Amino acid sequence: MPSITERGISPPPLQSGDAGTGPDEPFPRRAFREFLTGIRHLGALFPLSQADFSAGSVLSWVAHGGQECPSCGGFTRHASCPGIPVPCAACAASPPFYTARSLFAYEGRVREGIRAAKYGRGALPAGALAERLLEAIRGRWTDRFPDCFRPVVVPVPIMPLKYFRRGFNLPGLVGSALARAAGWPFAPRMLQRAGGNTPQAGLPLADREENVRGAFTVPAGLHAPPGVLLLDDVYTSGATAKACALALKTAGAGHIVVLTVARAVP
Ligand SMILES: [Zn+2]
Repeated sequence: MPSITERGISPPPLQSGDAGTGPDEPFPRRAFREFLTGIRHLGALFPLSQADFSAGSVLSWVAHGGQECPSCGGFTRHASCPGIPVPCAACAASPPFYTARSLFAYEGRVREGIRAAKYGRGALPAGALAERLLEAIRGRWTDRFPDCFRPVVVPVPIMPLKYFRRGFNLPGLVGSALARAAGWPFAPRMLQRAGGNTPQAGLPLADREENVRGAFTVPAGLHAPPGVLLLDDVYTSGATAKACALALKTAGAGHIVVLTVARAVP
């Protein structure tokens, strides 16, 4: 099997008795080898960035300073923009959660750091991310988190195969740290993922909702708590957050606030 390394994709090792390179090499193997060579050349054109996802770096990231849709938390690019219509276009069909908020624009070093961590190339400063989120919860988002709101923190689960390969779920790590810091309950198994096997990151926005429709469920016998903080790393189309919120509502959740570390800026 090929393997993905820091430098790119390694070709599968030749088995004893396999034909090597040359005119006798079987066509499928030759085609695969040439494909990998092309990939390596592409890698030389686009070298890996020096992503810094250390705790020190995260603590220095600048939070998004533009306006937010009061419902879904959609970003505008600049603080001086006239603002998003209320509700924004994405909120025309009311989302199944009360509100959503994201701290950073998913671009630049934020994007590089999160991608590096998710694909196992960087540190996992869950504590620093939780610290930044809690700072916003107690500051700029305090109207969404009154003292009487003590949500259960529920992370968005990743596909089991991804979890097996990575050994961690970034929203789970951040959610655990956030719940501990805030003194809120943490329920990492409140949601389970049973579908949506095509990675959302590889799909056009229009197809993402269909891909995760019904992909999340609350295990039979579990009742979702009335107040939920649904935590994910990145908010792009909102399809994942909506699918999770629908599952939680079906299981009895009432008030759902979605938080993500970062959010794609249109
Ligand atoms: Zn909106």
